[in-house]
Amino acid sequence: TQAKKLGLTSKILIGMGGGILFGLLLRNLFPESTFINEYITEGFLHVIGTIFVSGLKMLVVPLVFISLVCGTCSLSDPSKLGRLGGKTIAFYLFTTAIALSASILVAIMVHPGNASLVSEGLTFNAKEAPSLAEVIINIVPTNPLHAMSEGNMLQIILFAVIFGFAISHIGERGKRVAALFNDLNEVIMRVVTLIMQLAPYGVFALMAKLALTLGLETFGSVVKYFFVVLGVLLLHGFVVYPTLLKVFSGLNPITFIRKMRDVQLFAFSTASSNATLPVTIETAEHRLGVDNKVASFTLPLGATINMDGTAIMQGVATVFIAQVYGVDLTITDYAMVVVTATLASIGTAGVPGVGLIMLAMVLNQVGLPVEGIALIIGVDRLLDMVRTAVNVTGDTVATVVIAKSEGEFNEEIFNDTQAGKTAG
Ligand code: ASP
Repeated sequence: TQAKKLGLTSKILIGMGGGILFGLLLRNLFPESTFINEYITEGFLHVIGTIFVSGLKMLVVPLVFISLVCGTCSLSDPSKLGRLGGKTIAFYLFTTAIALSASILVAIMVHPGNASLVSEGLTFNAKEAPSLAEVIINIVPTNPLHAMSEGNMLQIILFAVIFGFAISHIGERGKRVAALFNDLNEVIMRVVTLIMQLAPYGVFALMAKLALTLGLETFGSVVKYFFVVLGVLLLHGFVVYPTLLKVFSGLNPITFIRKMRDVQLFAFSTASSNATLPVTIETAEHRLGVDNKVASFTLPLGATINMDGTAIMQGVATVFIAQVYGVDLTITDYAMVVVTATLASIGTAGVPGVGLIMLAMVLNQVGLPVEGIALIIGVDRLLDMVRTAVNVTGDTVATVVIAKSEGEFNEEIFNDTQAGKTAG
């Protein structure tokens, strides 16, 4: 019966716990075994884990394009799109500003870094932060198919919006095209639920591989840094977001947190907001009651430009590295950190480890030694997982708040605990 069936969340949690245990067990039973490494870690586990993540990624581009075309062509009033865009970007910037300020403040107070940590021979190659002009120019694709094959989210979003807008302006024929896209949207959503069923196995493999390969030797010296980042991330995820949700939309934060669990587990185990996108969109529309018009626009945008968790890591890391190298940062420097971190997050996609690249840009900008990154790289993988969960939660809070304010929200679905639940 339905009641006895394990839900998907429980299965994913079992896969996660089982994977960690399995990995730790093998690691301790056969330390440094080349057989395990070759056939299990880089063999079996690697294959299953990668296939699972690829399966999710496979859906991102068609899903975003089709779903956003559907969303825009059902918007009868074009000025609404502008308002939606404005609100979304304002809300994203607002939460990122909170995240950055909180992380910088906490890091200054806790003072996780000290000079004894500086060591010789650290290297890390930095990239330049994109200029504002570049960021803006890059939104317009020269070739939409190229944008899709590259998975360039902002370009795909722009093209889809223009495409959908045109559909709604050609009368009868447009209605036929719109109907086609709506049907395609159903198809792709069904594929999403299919792939989600694979999650317990995929997560098992990802976690087992992580437990087998993660080196925790480097942990000791940066343990304080790790816990400051983790603390601010949890605070943001479990205090700031619920409060914002309550204040801006009056909805019950507990219901929201419960329904976000699957999305957060996917984000945590894949460490990629982009790969999680299919699940985030599915959850927002079918479990939280957000209309497709809003979700299809705000969520892909958020996965690309809104990374509060990543911003938190950068805030703490900048202060930490400055403390380690004995550099005093001024208020202007901190302001620079906020501006660069925000710009860098707009120009870079939500994929694993991208936070470190953005951090390099930020450090460059305020003249801190980029090699400092080598200090924190050892613990970054774990933090990446947690901050990705925060990133997707932030995208979804914004989506719910905006949908509610636009009247594109179904509160019955939100309050119905069983809504859209995918039994495994
Ligand atoms: N992995 C993060 C994401 O996809 C980005 C990062 O912080 O590295 O959201």
